[in-house]
Amino acid sequence: MLDRHAEAAALWDAHVNPQFVRVLRTLGFDRTWVRGEGAYLIDDRGGRWLDLQSGFGTFALGRNHPEVKRALHEAIDADTPSLPAMGLSWLPGVLAEQLVARAPAHLDAVVFANSGAESVEAAIKLARAATGRTRVLYATKAFHGLTTGALALNGGAEFRERFGPLLPGADAVPFGDLDALGAALRAGDVAAFLVEPIQGKGVNLPPDGYLAGAQALCHEHGALLALDEVQTGLGRTGRFLALEHWGVEPDLVTLAKALSGGFVPIGAVLTTRRVRDAVFDSMERAVVHGSTFSGGDLAAAAGLATLRVLDDEGLVERAARMGELLAELTRPLAERHEIVREVRGKGLLWALELGPPEGAAARRLWAAVERRQQGLLAQLVTVPLFHEHRMLIQVAAHHSSVVKALPPLTIEEADVHRFARALDDVLGRASRHLLSRTGRLVGGLGARALAAR
Ligand code: PMP
Repeated sequence: MLDRHAEAAALWDAHVNPQFVRVLRTLGFDRTWVRGEGAYLIDDRGGRWLDLQSGFGTFALGRNHPEVKRALHEAIDADTPSLPAMGLSWLPGVLAEQLVARAPAHLDAVVFANSGAESVEAAIKLARAATGRTRVLYATKAFHGLTTGALALNGGAEFRERFGPLLPGADAVPFGDLDALGAALRAGDVAAFLVEPIQGKGVNLPPDGYLAGAQALCHEHGALLALDEVQTGLGRTGRFLALEHWGVEPDLVTLAKALSGGFVPIGAVLTTRRVRDAVFDSMERAVVHGSTFSGGDLAAAAGLATLRVLDDEGLVERAARMGELLAELTRPLAERHEIVREVRGKGLLWALELGPPEGAAARRLWAAVERRQQGLLAQLVTVPLFHEHRMLIQVAAHHSSVVKALPPLTIEEADVHRFARALDDVLGRASRHLLSRTGRLVGGLGARALAAR
Protein backbone atom coordinates (compact mmCIF):
# COMPACT_ATOMS: atom_id res chain seq x y z
CA MET A 1 0.00 0.00 0.00
CA LEU A 2 1.24 3.47 -0.83
CA ASP A 3 2.25 4.91 2.53
CA ARG A 4 2.92 8.63 2.93
CA HIS A 5 2.22 8.78 6.67
CA ALA A 6 5.09 11.20 7.25
CA GLU A 7 3.31 13.68 4.98
CA ALA A 8 -0.09 13.53 6.71
CA ALA A 9 0.19 16.95 8.38
CA ALA A 10 1.52 18.63 5.22
CA LEU A 11 -1.24 17.09 3.11
CA TRP A 12 -3.99 18.09 5.56
CA ASP A 13 -2.45 21.53 5.85
CA ALA A 14 -2.43 22.03 2.10
CA HIS A 15 -5.63 20.34 1.04
CA VAL A 16 -7.99 19.53 3.90
CA ASN A 17 -8.12 21.64 7.09
CA PRO A 18 -5.10 23.77 8.00
CA GLN A 19 -6.77 25.21 11.13
CA PHE A 20 -7.20 21.75 12.60
CA VAL A 21 -3.54 21.03 11.88
CA ARG A 22 -2.63 24.24 13.78
CA VAL A 23 -4.68 23.21 16.79
CA LEU A 24 -3.07 19.77 16.93
CA ARG A 25 0.38 21.34 16.65
CA THR A 26 -0.31 23.86 19.37
CA LEU A 27 -1.47 21.22 21.81
CA GLY A 28 1.30 18.85 20.77
CA PHE A 29 -1.29 16.29 19.65
CA ASP A 30 0.26 16.16 16.17
CA ARG A 31 1.58 12.63 16.35
CA THR A 32 2.01 10.60 13.20
CA TRP A 33 -0.34 7.66 13.61
CA VAL A 34 0.59 4.61 11.58
CA ARG A 35 -1.74 1.92 12.93
CA GLY A 36 -4.74 1.20 15.09
CA GLU A 37 -4.92 -1.93 17.20
CA GLY A 38 -7.85 -2.54 19.58
CA ALA A 39 -7.81 0.19 22.22
CA TYR A 40 -4.47 1.55 20.97
CA LEU A 41 -3.20 3.98 18.37
CA ILE A 42 0.38 3.36 17.31
CA ASP A 43 2.73 6.14 16.26
CA ASP A 44 5.61 6.18 13.80
CA ARG A 45 8.09 5.44 16.57
CA GLY A 46 6.21 2.38 17.75
CA GLY A 47 4.66 4.26 20.71
CA ARG A 48 1.34 2.86 21.91
CA TRP A 49 -1.34 5.34 22.98
CA LEU A 50 -4.49 4.31 24.82
CA ASP A 51 -7.39 5.76 22.85
CA LEU A 52 -10.11 6.73 25.31
CA GLN A 53 -12.00 8.66 22.64
CA SER A 54 -12.59 5.77 20.23
CA GLY A 55 -13.17 8.10 17.30
CA PHE A 56 -16.03 9.81 19.21
CA GLY A 57 -17.39 6.40 20.18
CA THR A 58 -17.17 4.76 16.77
CA PHE A 59 -14.59 2.12 17.67
CA ALA A 60 -16.65 0.39 20.33
CA LEU A 61 -15.05 -2.92 19.29
CA GLY A 62 -11.61 -1.36 19.30
CA ARG A 63 -9.83 -0.55 16.06
CA ASN A 64 -9.59 -3.13 13.30
CA HIS A 65 -11.50 -5.92 14.98
CA PRO A 66 -10.51 -9.18 13.20
CA GLU A 67 -14.10 -10.51 12.98
CA VAL A 68 -15.38 -7.40 11.20
CA LYS A 69 -12.33 -7.43 8.92
CA ARG A 70 -13.04 -11.04 8.06
CA ALA A 71 -16.71 -10.28 7.28
CA LEU A 72 -15.70 -7.37 5.05
CA HIS A 73 -13.08 -9.42 3.18
CA GLU A 74 -15.70 -12.12 2.69
CA ALA A 75 -18.29 -9.66 1.35
CA ILE A 76 -15.79 -8.10 -1.04
CA ASP A 77 -14.53 -11.47 -2.26
CA ALA A 78 -18.09 -12.69 -2.79
CA ASP A 79 -18.73 -9.88 -5.32
CA THR A 80 -22.08 -9.26 -3.63
CA PRO A 81 -24.78 -7.36 -5.56
CA SER A 82 -24.47 -4.23 -3.44
CA LEU A 83 -26.79 -1.28 -4.06
CA PRO A 84 -28.66 -2.62 -7.07
CA ALA A 85 -30.74 0.60 -7.13
CA MET A 86 -33.87 -0.82 -8.81
CA GLY A 87 -33.44 -4.07 -6.91
CA LEU A 88 -32.81 -5.62 -3.52
CA SER A 89 -29.86 -7.18 -1.81
CA TRP A 90 -30.23 -9.49 1.17
CA LEU A 91 -27.48 -8.22 3.51
CA PRO A 92 -29.21 -4.96 4.58
CA GLY A 93 -32.44 -6.93 5.04
CA VAL A 94 -30.69 -9.25 7.50
CA LEU A 95 -29.12 -6.31 9.32
CA ALA A 96 -32.59 -4.74 9.68
CA GLU A 97 -33.93 -8.07 10.99
CA GLN A 98 -31.09 -8.33 13.51
CA LEU A 99 -31.48 -4.74 14.72
CA VAL A 100 -35.23 -5.20 15.18
CA ALA A 101 -34.57 -8.43 17.09
CA ARG A 102 -32.44 -6.53 19.61
CA ALA A 103 -34.68 -3.45 19.93
CA PRO A 104 -37.83 -3.09 22.05
CA ALA A 105 -40.65 -5.09 20.44
CA HIS A 106 -42.62 -2.09 19.16
CA LEU A 107 -39.67 -0.90 17.01
CA ASP A 108 -40.09 -3.16 14.02
CA ALA A 109 -38.92 -1.12 11.03
CA VAL A 110 -35.56 0.29 9.94
CA VAL A 111 -34.62 3.16 7.64
CA PHE A 112 -30.93 3.10 6.69
CA ALA A 113 -28.58 6.07 6.39
CA ASN A 114 -24.85 6.76 6.19
CA SER A 115 -24.06 8.74 9.33
CA GLY A 116 -25.45 10.00 12.59
CA ALA A 117 -26.52 13.31 11.13
CA GLU A 118 -28.19 11.59 8.19
CA SER A 119 -30.13 9.39 10.61
CA VAL A 120 -31.28 12.52 12.42
CA GLU A 121 -32.35 14.09 9.12
CA ALA A 122 -34.35 10.95 8.37
CA ALA A 123 -35.96 11.05 11.81
CA ILE A 124 -37.02 14.67 11.29
CA LYS A 125 -38.54 13.86 7.92
CA LEU A 126 -40.29 10.71 9.14
CA ALA A 127 -41.75 12.57 12.13
CA ARG A 128 -43.00 15.46 10.01
CA ALA A 129 -44.55 13.29 7.35
CA ALA A 130 -46.07 10.82 9.80
CA THR A 131 -47.71 13.50 11.96
CA GLY A 132 -48.43 16.13 9.32
CA ARG A 133 -46.85 18.67 11.68
CA THR A 134 -43.75 20.78 11.26
CA ARG A 135 -42.28 21.83 14.62
CA VAL A 136 -39.43 19.82 16.11
CA LEU A 137 -38.30 20.28 19.70
CA TYR A 138 -34.79 19.66 20.94
CA ALA A 139 -33.02 20.00 24.28
CA THR A 140 -30.57 22.69 25.31
CA LYS A 141 -26.95 21.47 25.02
CA ALA A 142 -28.05 18.85 22.49
CA PHE A 143 -25.78 17.55 19.75
CA HIS A 144 -27.31 15.74 16.80
CA GLY A 145 -24.82 16.32 13.99
CA LEU A 146 -23.78 19.15 11.72
CA THR A 147 -25.90 18.93 8.57
CA THR A 148 -28.29 21.87 8.39
CA GLY A 149 -31.38 20.02 9.68
CA ALA A 150 -29.49 18.40 12.55
CA LEU A 151 -27.71 21.69 13.20
CA ALA A 152 -31.08 23.39 13.67
CA LEU A 153 -31.48 21.06 16.66
CA ASN A 154 -28.02 21.79 18.08
CA GLY A 155 -27.90 23.30 21.53
CA GLY A 156 -24.55 25.02 21.03
CA ALA A 157 -24.50 28.50 19.48
CA GLU A 158 -20.83 28.07 18.49
CA PHE A 159 -21.78 25.36 15.99
CA ARG A 160 -24.71 27.29 14.50
CA GLU A 161 -23.01 30.65 14.12
CA ARG A 162 -22.82 31.87 10.51
CA PHE A 163 -24.69 28.88 9.07
CA GLY A 164 -28.24 30.14 9.37
CA PRO A 165 -31.02 30.49 8.69
CA LEU A 166 -31.55 26.86 9.58
CA LEU A 167 -34.63 24.63 9.54
CA PRO A 168 -37.71 26.61 10.58
CA GLY A 169 -39.86 25.20 13.37
CA ALA A 170 -36.98 23.97 15.54
CA ASP A 171 -37.36 25.07 19.15
CA ALA A 172 -35.20 24.39 22.21
CA VAL A 173 -36.53 23.26 25.58
CA PRO A 174 -34.31 23.00 28.67
CA PHE A 175 -32.93 19.47 29.09
CA GLY A 176 -34.57 17.78 32.06
CA ASP A 177 -37.49 20.20 32.34
CA LEU A 178 -40.83 18.44 31.81
CA ASP A 179 -42.90 21.55 32.51
CA ALA A 180 -41.15 23.41 29.70
CA LEU A 181 -41.61 20.44 27.39
CA GLY A 182 -45.30 20.24 28.24
CA ALA A 183 -45.73 23.95 27.55
CA ALA A 184 -43.94 23.69 24.20
CA LEU A 185 -46.10 20.73 23.17
CA ARG A 186 -49.38 22.33 24.15
CA ALA A 187 -49.98 24.11 20.85
CA GLY A 188 -50.44 20.69 19.23
CA ASP A 189 -48.17 21.45 16.29
CA VAL A 190 -45.07 19.48 17.31
CA ALA A 191 -44.02 16.57 15.11
CA ALA A 192 -41.35 15.25 17.48
CA PHE A 193 -39.17 15.89 20.48
CA LEU A 194 -35.63 14.71 19.68
CA VAL A 195 -33.40 14.06 22.66
CA GLU A 196 -30.26 12.11 23.57
CA PRO A 197 -30.97 9.80 26.53
CA ILE A 198 -27.61 10.94 27.93
CA GLN A 199 -26.33 14.14 26.36
CA GLY A 200 -22.92 13.66 24.77
CA LYS A 201 -21.89 17.29 25.29
CA GLY A 202 -21.12 17.22 28.98
CA VAL A 203 -22.38 13.68 29.60
CA ASN A 204 -25.58 15.03 31.14
CA LEU A 205 -27.73 12.29 32.61
CA PRO A 206 -31.52 12.67 32.50
CA PRO A 207 -33.19 13.44 35.83
CA ASP A 208 -35.27 10.58 37.27
CA GLY A 209 -38.48 10.14 35.37
CA TYR A 210 -37.53 12.60 32.64
CA LEU A 211 -37.54 10.31 29.62
CA ALA A 212 -40.69 8.43 30.67
CA GLY A 213 -42.34 11.79 31.39
CA ALA A 214 -41.26 13.11 27.99
CA GLN A 215 -42.76 10.06 26.34
CA ALA A 216 -46.07 10.51 28.14
CA LEU A 217 -46.21 14.22 27.28
CA CYS A 218 -45.32 13.68 23.61
CA HIS A 219 -47.98 11.05 23.21
CA GLU A 220 -50.58 13.06 25.09
CA HIS A 221 -50.02 15.89 22.61
CA GLY A 222 -49.80 13.75 19.46
CA ALA A 223 -46.04 14.22 19.00
CA LEU A 224 -43.45 11.51 18.47
CA LEU A 225 -40.56 10.87 20.85
CA ALA A 226 -37.27 10.45 18.99
CA LEU A 227 -34.25 9.26 20.95
CA ASP A 228 -30.85 9.97 19.47
CA GLU A 229 -28.74 6.95 20.39
CA VAL A 230 -25.99 7.65 17.86
CA GLN A 231 -23.49 7.80 20.72
CA THR A 232 -25.29 5.91 23.50
CA GLY A 233 -26.46 2.95 21.40
CA LEU A 234 -24.80 -0.39 20.65
CA GLY A 235 -23.76 -1.20 24.20
CA ARG A 236 -21.97 2.02 25.15
CA THR A 237 -23.92 2.53 28.39
CA GLY A 238 -24.01 -1.13 29.44
CA ARG A 239 -27.29 -1.90 27.64
CA PHE A 240 -27.75 -2.52 23.92
CA LEU A 241 -29.76 0.72 23.78
CA ALA A 242 -29.53 3.27 26.59
CA LEU A 243 -33.34 3.58 26.56
CA GLU A 244 -33.44 0.18 28.31
CA HIS A 245 -32.19 1.81 31.52
CA TRP A 246 -35.42 3.78 31.74
CA GLY A 247 -37.85 1.45 29.93
CA VAL A 248 -38.95 4.14 27.48
CA GLU A 249 -40.68 3.32 24.21
CA PRO A 250 -39.77 6.02 21.70
CA ASP A 251 -41.25 6.18 18.21
CA LEU A 252 -37.87 6.76 16.57
CA VAL A 253 -34.32 5.80 17.57
CA THR A 254 -31.29 7.00 15.62
CA LEU A 255 -28.13 4.88 15.45
CA ALA A 256 -24.77 5.24 13.69
CA LYS A 257 -21.15 5.40 14.94
CA ALA A 258 -20.37 1.95 16.40
CA LEU A 259 -22.87 0.13 14.19
CA SER A 260 -20.29 -0.88 11.58
CA GLY A 261 -17.38 -1.39 13.95
CA GLY A 262 -15.87 1.85 12.65
CA PHE A 263 -15.15 0.50 9.17
CA VAL A 264 -17.93 1.77 6.92
CA PRO A 265 -20.11 4.88 7.28
CA ILE A 266 -23.53 3.78 8.43
CA GLY A 267 -26.66 5.07 10.10
CA ALA A 268 -30.09 3.69 10.87
CA VAL A 269 -33.40 4.84 12.26
CA LEU A 270 -35.39 2.28 14.18
CA THR A 271 -39.09 3.05 14.09
CA THR A 272 -42.52 1.50 14.06
CA ARG A 273 -44.26 0.12 11.03
CA ARG A 274 -47.01 2.64 11.75
CA VAL A 275 -44.63 5.58 11.32
CA ARG A 276 -42.87 4.03 8.35
CA ASP A 277 -46.12 3.18 6.60
CA ALA A 278 -47.47 6.68 7.17
CA VAL A 279 -44.51 8.06 5.21
CA PHE A 280 -43.98 5.41 2.51
CA ASP A 281 -47.73 5.07 1.96
CA SER A 282 -48.04 4.43 -1.77
CA MET A 283 -45.96 3.14 -4.67
CA GLU A 284 -45.60 6.76 -5.74
CA ARG A 285 -43.85 7.45 -2.46
CA ALA A 286 -41.78 4.24 -2.33
CA VAL A 287 -38.49 6.12 -2.65
CA VAL A 288 -39.53 9.39 -1.07
CA HIS A 289 -36.60 9.18 1.35
CA GLY A 290 -33.24 7.48 0.95
CA SER A 291 -29.79 8.03 -0.46
CA THR A 292 -27.50 6.39 -2.96
CA PHE A 293 -25.27 4.63 -0.47
CA SER A 294 -27.71 3.78 2.31
CA GLY A 295 -28.22 0.06 2.83
CA GLY A 296 -25.03 -0.97 1.05
CA ASP A 297 -23.68 -4.51 1.38
CA LEU A 298 -20.35 -3.56 2.98
CA ALA A 299 -22.02 -1.40 5.63
CA ALA A 300 -24.50 -4.21 6.30
CA ALA A 301 -21.81 -6.91 6.42
CA ALA A 302 -19.80 -4.80 8.87
CA GLY A 303 -22.97 -4.08 10.88
CA LEU A 304 -23.88 -7.77 11.11
CA ALA A 305 -20.34 -8.69 12.14
CA THR A 306 -20.42 -5.93 14.77
CA LEU A 307 -23.66 -7.26 16.27
CA ARG A 308 -22.16 -10.78 16.29
CA VAL A 309 -19.03 -9.56 18.08
CA LEU A 310 -21.13 -7.66 20.63
CA ASP A 311 -22.97 -10.95 21.34
CA ASP A 312 -20.05 -13.38 21.15
CA GLU A 313 -17.72 -11.32 23.30
CA GLY A 314 -20.47 -10.23 25.70
CA LEU A 315 -19.46 -6.62 25.12
CA VAL A 316 -22.67 -5.02 26.34
CA GLU A 317 -22.29 -6.71 29.73
CA ARG A 318 -18.59 -5.97 29.62
CA ALA A 319 -19.33 -2.24 29.12
CA ALA A 320 -21.55 -2.36 32.21
CA ARG A 321 -18.84 -4.17 34.22
CA MET A 322 -15.93 -2.02 33.07
CA GLY A 323 -18.09 1.08 33.53
CA GLU A 324 -18.73 0.09 37.14
CA LEU A 325 -15.04 -0.48 37.70
CA LEU A 326 -14.18 2.87 36.11
CA ALA A 327 -16.78 4.63 38.26
CA GLU A 328 -15.56 2.86 41.40
CA LEU A 329 -11.96 3.83 40.72
CA THR A 330 -12.63 7.42 39.68
CA ARG A 331 -15.50 8.57 41.94
CA PRO A 332 -13.10 8.92 44.90
CA LEU A 333 -11.14 11.46 42.82
CA ALA A 334 -13.84 13.99 43.69
CA GLU A 335 -12.89 13.62 47.35
CA ARG A 336 -9.16 13.47 46.75
CA HIS A 337 -8.88 16.52 44.51
CA GLU A 338 -10.44 19.87 45.18
CA ILE A 339 -10.68 20.70 41.51
CA VAL A 340 -12.96 17.74 40.77
CA ARG A 341 -16.59 18.71 41.08
CA GLU A 342 -18.14 15.43 39.95
CA VAL A 343 -17.50 12.11 38.26
CA ARG A 344 -20.51 10.77 36.35
CA GLY A 345 -21.63 8.57 33.50
CA LYS A 346 -23.17 5.25 32.62
CA GLY A 347 -21.32 2.20 31.38
CA LEU A 348 -18.38 3.36 29.31
CA LEU A 349 -19.72 6.86 28.73
CA TRP A 350 -17.75 8.62 31.48
CA ALA A 351 -17.07 12.21 32.48
CA LEU A 352 -15.21 14.18 35.09
CA GLU A 353 -16.25 17.76 35.74
CA LEU A 354 -13.75 20.22 37.12
CA GLY A 355 -14.62 23.12 39.41
CA PRO A 356 -12.74 25.91 41.18
CA PRO A 357 -10.54 24.88 44.11
CA GLU A 358 -10.68 26.20 47.66
CA GLY A 359 -8.66 29.27 48.49
CA ALA A 360 -9.20 32.81 47.34
CA ALA A 361 -6.04 33.10 45.21
CA ALA A 362 -6.59 29.84 43.37
CA ARG A 363 -10.24 30.70 42.80
CA ARG A 364 -9.27 34.11 41.40
CA LEU A 365 -6.81 32.53 38.99
CA TRP A 366 -9.36 29.91 38.00
CA ALA A 367 -11.94 32.59 37.28
CA ALA A 368 -9.42 34.64 35.28
CA VAL A 369 -8.48 31.71 33.07
CA GLU A 370 -12.12 30.75 32.62
CA ARG A 371 -12.94 34.34 31.67
CA ARG A 372 -10.25 34.35 29.02
CA GLN A 373 -11.50 31.16 27.49
CA GLN A 374 -14.14 29.14 29.19
CA GLY A 375 -13.31 25.46 29.28
CA LEU A 376 -9.57 25.91 28.95
CA LEU A 377 -8.97 24.36 32.33
CA ALA A 378 -10.16 20.97 31.14
CA GLN A 379 -6.98 20.96 29.06
CA LEU A 380 -5.12 20.77 32.38
CA VAL A 381 -6.23 17.16 32.33
CA THR A 382 -6.28 16.23 28.65
CA VAL A 383 -2.89 17.67 27.70
CA PRO A 384 -0.78 15.95 30.39
CA LEU A 385 -2.78 12.75 30.03
CA PHE A 386 -1.69 12.77 26.41
CA HIS A 387 1.93 13.80 26.82
CA GLU A 388 2.82 12.11 30.05
CA HIS A 389 0.57 9.06 30.07
CA ARG A 390 -0.02 8.48 26.36
CA MET A 391 -3.78 8.56 26.69
CA LEU A 392 -6.06 10.25 24.19
CA ILE A 393 -9.12 11.84 25.76
CA GLN A 394 -11.34 14.83 24.97
CA VAL A 395 -13.00 17.87 26.45
CA ALA A 396 -16.73 17.18 26.40
CA ALA A 397 -17.97 20.45 24.89
CA HIS A 398 -17.01 24.01 24.05
CA HIS A 399 -16.82 26.26 27.09
CA SER A 400 -16.99 23.33 29.45
CA SER A 401 -14.81 22.01 32.23
CA VAL A 402 -15.87 18.46 31.55
CA VAL A 403 -13.41 15.81 30.44
CA LYS A 404 -15.03 12.88 28.70
CA ALA A 405 -13.97 9.30 27.94
CA LEU A 406 -15.53 6.85 25.52
CA PRO A 407 -13.18 3.86 25.72
CA PRO A 408 -13.70 0.87 23.47
CA LEU A 409 -16.05 -1.65 25.07
CA THR A 410 -13.18 -4.12 24.74
CA ILE A 411 -10.91 -2.12 27.08
CA GLU A 412 -8.82 -4.33 29.34
CA GLU A 413 -9.28 -4.13 33.08
CA ALA A 414 -5.59 -3.26 33.47
CA ASP A 415 -6.09 -0.24 31.20
CA VAL A 416 -9.04 0.97 33.27
CA HIS A 417 -6.80 0.83 36.35
CA ARG A 418 -4.01 2.58 34.47
CA PHE A 419 -6.36 5.36 33.35
CA ALA A 420 -7.63 5.92 36.89
CA ARG A 421 -4.05 6.10 38.23
CA ALA A 422 -3.03 8.50 35.46
CA LEU A 423 -6.00 10.74 36.24
CA ASP A 424 -5.09 10.78 39.90
CA ASP A 425 -1.56 11.81 38.98
CA VAL A 426 -2.60 14.53 36.54
CA LEU A 427 -5.26 15.95 38.86
CA GLY A 428 -2.85 15.97 41.80
CA ARG A 429 -0.27 17.91 39.86
CA ALA A 430 -2.86 20.23 38.35
CA SER A 431 -4.24 21.12 41.79
CA ARG A 432 -0.80 21.57 43.36
CA HIS A 433 0.58 23.75 40.64
CA LEU A 434 -2.58 25.53 39.63
CA LEU A 435 -1.25 28.92 40.65
CA SER A 436 2.10 28.72 38.94
CA ARG A 437 1.44 26.48 36.00
CA THR A 438 -2.03 27.08 34.60
CA GLY A 439 -0.95 29.46 31.88
CA ARG A 440 1.90 27.31 30.72
CA LEU A 441 0.09 24.01 30.80
CA VAL A 442 -2.87 25.01 28.73
CA GLY A 443 -0.94 27.20 26.38
CA GLY A 444 -3.78 29.57 25.69
CA LEU A 445 -5.88 27.90 23.04
CA GLY A 446 -7.23 24.83 21.44
CA ALA A 447 -10.18 24.09 23.69
CA ARG A 448 -12.68 24.71 20.95
CA ALA A 449 -11.24 22.27 18.49
CA LEU A 450 -10.73 19.54 21.07
CA ALA A 451 -14.32 19.80 22.08
CA ALA A 452 -15.37 18.70 18.63
CA ARG A 453 -17.76 15.88 18.04
N1 PMP B 1 -26.11 12.44 17.30
C1 PMP B 1 -25.30 12.27 18.36
C2 PMP B 1 -25.90 12.01 19.71
C3 PMP B 1 -23.92 12.31 18.19
O1 PMP B 1 -23.13 12.14 19.25
C4 PMP B 1 -23.39 12.56 16.91
C5 PMP B 1 -21.91 12.62 16.66
N2 PMP B 1 -21.13 12.83 17.75
C6 PMP B 1 -24.27 12.73 15.85
C7 PMP B 1 -25.62 12.66 16.08
C8 PMP B 1 -23.78 13.00 14.46
O2 PMP B 1 -23.19 11.86 13.93
P1 PMP B 1 -22.25 12.00 12.65
O3 PMP B 1 -21.01 12.68 13.09
O4 PMP B 1 -22.03 10.56 12.22
O5 PMP B 1 -23.00 12.77 11.64
